[in-house]
Amino acid sequence: MTYQSVNPYDGQLLKTFDELTDNQLETALVTADTCFKSWRHSTFSERAAVAVKAAAIMRSHVDDYARLVTLEMGKRIEEARSEVALSADIIDYYAKNSERFLASQDLKPTSGEAEVESVPFGVLFGVQPWNFPYYQLARFAAPNLMAGNVVMVKHAGSVPQCALAFERLWLEAGAPTGAYTNLFISYDHVNRVIDDPRIKGVALTGSGDAGQSVAGRAGQNLKKSTMELGGSDAFIVLEDADLEKTVKWAVWGKMNNTGQSCVAAKRFIVVEKLADRFLEKFKTALTALKPGDPMDKATTLAPLSSEAALVKLLDQVTRAVASGASVVMGGGRVDRPGAFMQPTILADIQPGNPAFREEFFGPVALFFRVKNEDEAVALANDSDFGLGGSVFTQDVARGKRVASRVDTGMMFVNQPTWTLPELPFGGIKNSGYGRELSSMGIHEFVNKKLVRVASIDALM
Ligand code: NAP
Repeated sequence: MTYQSVNPYDGQLLKTFDELTDNQLETALVTADTCFKSWRHSTFSERAAVAVKAAAIMRSHVDDYARLVTLEMGKRIEEARSEVALSADIIDYYAKNSERFLASQDLKPTSGEAEVESVPFGVLFGVQPWNFPYYQLARFAAPNLMAGNVVMVKHAGSVPQCALAFERLWLEAGAPTGAYTNLFISYDHVNRVIDDPRIKGVALTGSGDAGQSVAGRAGQNLKKSTMELGGSDAFIVLEDADLEKTVKWAVWGKMNNTGQSCVAAKRFIVVEKLADRFLEKFKTALTALKPGDPMDKATTLAPLSSEAALVKLLDQVTRAVASGASVVMGGGRVDRPGAFMQPTILADIQPGNPAFREEFFGPVALFFRVKNEDEAVALANDSDFGLGGSVFTQDVARGKRVASRVDTGMMFVNQPTWTLPELPFGGIKNSGYGRELSSMGIHEFVNKKLVRVASIDALM
């Protein structure tokens, strides 16, 4: 059964859901396509009224929405509440700004007139991951619905209750049936949906393997796609960093969402002058985290999203150690029921070690000691990923210079990479292509259509 809620805190099976049949999928596609034909002609203020209501519903039922996240994928309840608030902020942001973002652009040609209109593509298909069960959906749905597109979403199999809650949200907010459609479908059906001529664009957030499959299929169909894939963000500590503040951010950057974030700090690259002191303080802070029920506000270490995620991470650690890495702390599962991983630091990772290139999706920090800034930048860039990254220094101008030298889609100075509605989000290299959020996110799936009014006679 692909679509099932299992509580990773105690392994209890909560609910299962059937996949759509061929006929049900066809009905959903017809409904979405029909909806687009009218939704595309709705005004920005009509769409914004729906979006503002959706955001308000999320805020007024924050506990209900948050509880489902914690139940299905184990996120600490306060983090789940923050995710609900952030999702509502994203929806509000596009309600407020989309008309301005998509206003026709006058090209001011040398003669006659020319402008670029932004016209919705049609029905879009999104494939989304479990790690931020609402935020990922909001990031895809809000700009595209506001642009006049309609969306169909295959959410991850492990968060079906969140998937249904988010679909219900749009109906409760007054969106017409078919504007937002949740699809419980198999991978075969994912391919079928991408092939369907009614689908005009495809967006995936997930792993590189899923990206290759979904982007490949979209490419075969000559359909535009965006890919938000994995990362192995560098967390660079220069010798003039404020150590106390930096260690606090290191803990947050590694442990937010129990490390299960594409932009979690994954490679800690510390200049040798601070390396020993940083490592000692980082270790002490991670040791203080206490596993417990993620529904309990006092818990500081949550389980991973599933037993399978834990097994995968443990296997990565075992292979890293077999290839020469040393365990500074942790390295195993927590001796208690549930999918709990010990906060872990690995060091002595050489370029031939598989850990040097892999993404560790959980509370495992890879620690590297470097001589200076140049070595830090070179190591940060020696990665197949290019999503986010951060640099810590008390000299902001220096931080910005280092940020410019690191090849990623996002660099932060004195904070690990994070997200806000108004900041573009996305990567390069194996971290994917395209951008979500900000004004850039809403331009991905609109036709930039030139309308030219000539003022000359026919050319001979
Ligand atoms: P995943 O296994 O790739 O799953 C993501 C989504 O793709 C799920 O809905 C999954 O469905 C589906 N999927 C997987 N393989 C597929 C295939 N061959 N054909 C069709 N659909 C397929 O990734 P995950 O483990 O859920 O999420 C973690 C990954 O996402 C990490 O690599 C993380 O860095 C990345 N991520 C990136 C961003 C970003 O913005 N760049 C944000 C969040 C996460 P099932 O659940 O049914 O398998």
